[in-house]
Amino acid sequence: MKIENYGFLTHRDCTKCLVAKNIDEFYSKGSRIDSWCKSCKKTKRRASYIVGKNSLNKAELKRLKSFVRELITQELSSLNKLNSEISDFINSALNKTRPNSI
Ligand SMILES: [Zn+2]
Repeated sequence: MKIENYGFLTHRDCTKCLVAKNIDEFYSKGSRIDSWCKSCKKTKRRASYIVGKNSLNKAELKRLKSFVRELITQELSSLNKLNSEISDFINSALNKTRPNSI
């Protein structure tokens, strides 16, 4: 994939895990780039495959379990990132107003 196709854009935030990743980490259809990164897509695909089956053998149950763990970890890191971004925002807002309001 050629990064030049997207002009200045070399990184973007994955809307699922909220991590800024290189454009190479996203699938693209023509000039459109997926909003989810490859690893999030992969996780999702694996989940729908497993969940779409009517019966599961032992190995698949194990995979499902590890998928759920992965998902929770991902969600947690998304929330942590969001939390720290919000805290930063609030702190910077407070720092701006504090000198005047005291
Ligand atoms: Zn992602």
